[in-house]
Amino acid sequence: MNAEIIAIGSELLTPHRTDTNSLFLTEQLNRLGVEVVCKTIVGDHRERLTEAIALAWKRSQIVITIGGLGPTEDDLTRESAARALGRPLRSDAALARAIEARFRARGIPMPEINLRQAMRIEGAEILENQAGTAPGQWIEQSGKVLLLLPGPPRELEPMFRQACLPRLQRLVPPAAIATRVLRIAGRFESEVEQLVAPIYTQYANPVTTILAAPGEIQLHLRATAETPAAAEALLNELAPRLEAALGESVFSTDGASLEEVVGRMLAAQNATLAVAESCTGGLLAERITHVAGSSAYFLGGVVCYSNDWKSEWLDVPPDLIGSRGAVSG
Ligand code: AMP
Ligand code: MG
Repeated sequence: MNAEIIAIGSELLTPHRTDTNSLFLTEQLNRLGVEVVCKTIVGDHRERLTEAIALAWKRSQIVITIGGLGPTEDDLTRESAARALGRPLRSDAALARAIEARFRARGIPMPEINLRQAMRIEGAEILENQAGTAPGQWIEQSGKVLLLLPGPPRELEPMFRQACLPRLQRLVPPAAIATRVLRIAGRFESEVEQLVAPIYTQYANPVTTILAAPGEIQLHLRATAETPAAAEALLNELAPRLEAALGESVFSTDGASLEEVVGRMLAAQNATLAVAESCTGGLLAERITHVAGSSAYFLGGVVCYSNDWKSEWLDVPPDLIGSRGAVSG
């Protein structure tokens, strides 16, 4: 099953706020075997929001909107979702009483505008908000579902866990997603692509993505199947073919970093390591010692920056530095 997420709020279109809720939701959906195929961020704008929801509803089985369920003028999600689905939006008496009761319990008079939060899309089930006043809504139609969730993470997360997960588990057929990362050193991204593209393009599942990370290239494999074992089996078919094509430049397939892999090899051979660094300023020693258990093989390092010190401490002949410069093979 496919899902689509629409994060709503003009603040999310500024450099100052990030849509973090969709990361949480994607992780939760993936655990159910649901792939997130599209994420959209829309400002607080009636027409654009209505269009975004209508489009998502047309092409995806699960649509989740985040935010815009507050009581103020710029909270347009209920209204836009109702329009996108062509359903009426009505005040729900029970919901209005519940919101009023919430304020009464705190001894504060309820501002009139909070009644906007009692507006329910026809046919929607209300998802209780235990951490705030904005209730969520769950609209199911011919096997598809539209979910309206509040923006604040401390409201969205418990609502999703408590009210949405059990409902989704009933709706979503059994499925599992398995992932594997092949980490590669010493090759350029284009070189990796040339070696592996003829192989991975033969597979629609797993899906393979190439990512360039600092100092390494990563191949991300993602398989979907009915069970975790079946998804893992799909990875086990493709991954060894990719590894064979890349040879020894693949240093890890289990998430281990380069320094962890180097550490394991040193420990296995009872070898020890010392480093002398110049421009890296200690970064190499930092990475090596970051690995738990590195004291078994790492003796220490020096940061030797000036040419004088390179000669004094490390016995690099001054003539050599003079003729080749401090940076040379
Ligand atoms: P709203 O429900 O739209 O009024 O949002 C209320 C609060 O939740 C604001 O502080 C938003 O910045 C925050 N918020 C809304 N959407 C998201 C999101 N997608 N990720 C993280 N925080 C959000
Ligand atoms: Mg908002």
